[in-house]
Amino acid sequence: MPELPEVEALAGYLRERAVGRCVDRIEVAAISALKTYDPAPSAVSGRTVVDAGRHGKFLDVIFDGGVHLVVHLARAGWLHYREAFPSGAPLRPGKGPIALRVRLDDGSGFDLTEAGTQKKLAAYLVTDPAQVPGVAKLGPDALGADLATFADRLRSRRGQVKGVLTDQSVLAGVGNAYSDEILHAAKLSPFALTDRLTDEQLATLHEATREVLGDAVRRSVGQRAAELKGEKRSGLKVHARTGLPCPVCGDTVREVSFADSSLQYCPNCQTGGKPLADRRLSRLVR
Ligand SMILES: [Zn+2]
Repeated sequence: MPELPEVEALAGYLRERAVGRCVDRIEVAAISALKTYDPAPSAVSGRTVVDAGRHGKFLDVIFDGGVHLVVHLARAGWLHYREAFPSGAPLRPGKGPIALRVRLDDGSGFDLTEAGTQKKLAAYLVTDPAQVPGVAKLGPDALGADLATFADRLRSRRGQVKGVLTDQSVLAGVGNAYSDEILHAAKLSPFALTDRLTDEQLATLHEATREVLGDAVRRSVGQRAAELKGEKRSGLKVHARTGLPCPVCGDTVREVSFADSSLQYCPNCQTGGKPLADRRLSRLVR
């Protein structure tokens, strides 16, 4: 799932490539992906792309006259920039991976695609990003929050730090992958309770958040169009590395189920060497 760094990179790429170009037309192939009906996609034809930005994990493409295309890429969505489209024929609504296509006046443009059968990608055409329910309830940006804000927000929600850190209404931008990395960098158990974190632990967690996200943004933003073609992350230390050695200490990275997914962590770095109990599994066994 694209998180803050990947969406920031996509916004950066659009700023470089699409800003100043005029929209030829927007084509919607997956009707269910477009969550709004006013303004209509046809109302964007002839408007210039004036900027691109990000709200948490939402991408925001801004057209003149104050129209925004706000996109949540969900788990398997991505934006593919095309220097040219194979055909001028309009997209046919159907089962393909393309949800929405934006054609620009120089023949280039971009497709919003979604792999798999679970269609969760959501696009909104609005005159104010706050009209998007998911944007309206976002907490402060995880990368921009200062220590006081960060600590306040985390303490405002009692729960396991893994869950609180990925709650977009607490802090915006962090998902499953980067929360694993942040907690590993901070040497904190994903199951630590937020109301029991000391000031020092919160400061370490804040620092780790800025470092992990900042590094990932620098890596992603440096990538050229050719590499911006999928969820491609380098430098991950624990996420999606179950069974591999922790690059910090050499212990084996472990996995435990969490919410509707799973998380990865290093026992030696984060939980005093003790593996976390897999509650889902132990419930089954019992
Ligand atoms: Zn380790």
